[in-house]
Amino acid sequence: MSYDAAIVGGGLLGSITALKLAKGGMRVVVIERGGLCRGASGVNAGTITLQFVEPEVVPYARKGRELWQGAGDWLGRDLDFVDKGVLTLAFTEAEAELLAAQTMERHSAGAPNEIVTLEHARRIEPSLSKRPVLVSHCSLDGWIPSNLAGHALGRALHRADVEVREGVSVEGIERGGTGYILDTGREAVAAARVVLAGGAWLVPMARWLGFDLPLGCLVNQIIVTERMAPFLGSTIGVARRRLTLKQAANGTVLIGGGWQGDGDPQRGAVALIPKNLRGNIRLARHCVPALDGARAVRVWLGLQDKSPDGLPVIGPLPGRDDAFIIACGHSGFTMGPYVARLLSDVILGREPEMPLFDPARLLSVGGK
Ligand SMILES: Cc1cc2nc3c(=O)[nH]c(=O)nc-3n(C[C@H](O)[C@H](O)[C@H](O)COP(=O)(O)OP(=O)(O)OC[C@H]3O[C@@H](n4cnc5c(N)ncnc54)[C@H](O)[C@@H]3O)c2cc1C
Repeated sequence: MSYDAAIVGGGLLGSITALKLAKGGMRVVVIERGGLCRGASGVNAGTITLQFVEPEVVPYARKGRELWQGAGDWLGRDLDFVDKGVLTLAFTEAEAELLAAQTMERHSAGAPNEIVTLEHARRIEPSLSKRPVLVSHCSLDGWIPSNLAGHALGRALHRADVEVREGVSVEGIERGGTGYILDTGREAVAAARVVLAGGAWLVPMARWLGFDLPLGCLVNQIIVTERMAPFLGSTIGVARRRLTLKQAANGTVLIGGGWQGDGDPQRGAVALIPKNLRGNIRLARHCVPALDGARAVRVWLGLQDKSPDGLPVIGPLPGRDDAFIIACGHSGFTMGPYVARLLSDVILGREPEMPLFDPARLLSVGGK
């Protein structure tokens, strides 16, 4: 059996690319080492953000948000999008300068965010502390429980006849057949095209094809509190650290982002970073005093890729029209559905609605 496209990595970006290629008429296989959407895509904070993305990316994030909001149309089920806006806080003069600049840049790029008075912010979110010196509000921002997206994607791939091989690790890729042969240790899989969608594990994948991809890896941690009576209606963000907090329907508060550490997934197990967890809890309590005394009952970490310029890396590998990369770094959940659609358009030979983020800008080319 030979496929039109093999997707390596069944996170959000690989899975949505696969779905779109299958809908475009291709025979597609997704090969995922663990479970579908259990990497960064299954453990992320679910924040849909125009405020925290780079200005260049705002139009993509906005489109991604629209697609999440209309998930019923393309994913087969509506997700519980909490679209009550996000309040982003600054606590020092230096942070206020940063937040003012961030807000202006994102606004010019198309985000409907604005600086609001603390009184206005506390009318939107009465549980907010009185400490912020500046607050920005973005009405389009919000959040989605990210695990729901993974479940829905699994079912959508099944309906679209995409073959999903979970628990199968790709160990190498060689040119062969009418395109590529993927070595899975158990059997060889042949495909005319490959899409590398390995998130934090992309660096070794690109090496299989002879490219050195200078991506870093961040350890991003999530803290979940005990269930609390509803008190937090909005999502809160912190300008400098990209920390977010929100209360789920079951009463737990999710604290994500904040202080992050460098990870090296090639070295095996990556551990929690207690000092960052402590910093994030302190900062969350600084934002919302009602968290004082709340117990953290769960923490977990996820690994996310990081490009040197902070922008996504999406498109064909240099000199190839049959090997592609897709990676988004810190806001991949927000823009994922849209950028995966753009990449699948390119692979299907259609003109993408917006330009991709050419991997060639980062790559030293060897090329097998
Ligand atoms: C803790 C955390 C919080 C985040 N919060 C937000 C947020 O609030 N908002 C937002 O917009 N973004 C957020 N992000 C970023 C977002 O989650 C990611 O950008 C996005 O999920 C990346 O998707 P992906 O498909 O590229 O990667 P992943 O979901 O990591 O998928 C890559 C997959 O490749 C598989 N794989 C690796 N090696 C192999 C191999 N050899 N063979 C086969 N499969 C392989 C892995 O098992 C994995 O499933 C967060 C990330 C983390 C980690």
